[in-house]
Amino acid sequence: MGKEKIVYGQCALCRQNKELQLSHIVPRFVGRKMIKTALGNIRVTNEPNKVAQDIEKHYMLCHDCEELFSAKERWFASNIFNPWQDHKQREFSYDENLTYFIVSLSWRSLYLDLEEYSCDATFDKEILLTMLRAENIMRDYLLGKRQDVSDIQNHMFFFDRIESASNYDFEKNPSVAMHRSITSYSAYNGKTSFTISNLLGIMIVTFYSMEEQEEWTNTQILNGRGTIVAENQGIKSVVGQEIQHWMNEAENAKTNLSDNQKNKILEKMKKVGNGIRDYAIFQDFIDDEILKRNNEKK
Ligand SMILES: [Zn+2]
Repeated sequence: MGKEKIVYGQCALCRQNKELQLSHIVPRFVGRKMIKTALGNIRVTNEPNKVAQDIEKHYMLCHDCEELFSAKERWFASNIFNPWQDHKQREFSYDENLTYFIVSLSWRSLYLDLEEYSCDATFDKEILLTMLRAENIMRDYLLGKRQDVSDIQNHMFFFDRIESASNYDFEKNPSVAMHRSITSYSAYNGKTSFTISNLLGIMIVTFYSMEEQEEWTNTQILNGRGTIVAENQGIKSVVGQEIQHWMNEAENAKTNLSDNQKNKILEKMKKVGNGIRDYAIFQDFIDDEILKRNNEKK
């Protein structure tokens, strides 16, 4: 471990010049969970032979703003993420902490993406304005300057025991791809713009604009109290293309693994032996087999 660098600069949230912390875009507990349940080391999918030691980090927030976010991350970890991952809990009561957590996650991601998109001449100008406006609303909300998030919509979808997904390629192990991946980025498709995050099977989408044909059933998180159930959720959305993309990446990562990497994973599997059942990925492979068989029956 090297000495931690001290970086001063403008905090992205409060805009004060302060010492900046090395912030995780996706909260640290998600990465820790992945390391705990992973068979091999974590791999970055676009460079399958490189091992990612940690999840993406940026100098972005001051200590005070980082603390503001940590409290809500803890709430999400203990009230939704861990109960779902560890105990298969499916019904969750929530309060305003959940909206705050989702907005903080999507905002971090959007803020960094906008640095890049603002310089991209090919990026849709109307979408760019919509995203810039959303970034402002979200920042004011996160700082407590406003209580609402205007027409921004938050949705949460649990990739849990997918029983039918007729448009997807079952050879690509959808459960494995969803349950083993961590990502967060902003994108648009037509007039629909959003930030999408996958926290090991919990997909969180914040919409900045939405076309009429988008259909999201039992996924919306209201700003305030409510209940979200990891059942009977449905999506008809351009976001489906992102999911397909993740599956393709996971598949490519598998085919591009070097023999050396494959051998390492096999060795590790041999060592684990029967203990392999304790690893989440084992259940994922079973789920995908069932899904494939059900689909063949149709
Ligand atoms: Zn700050």
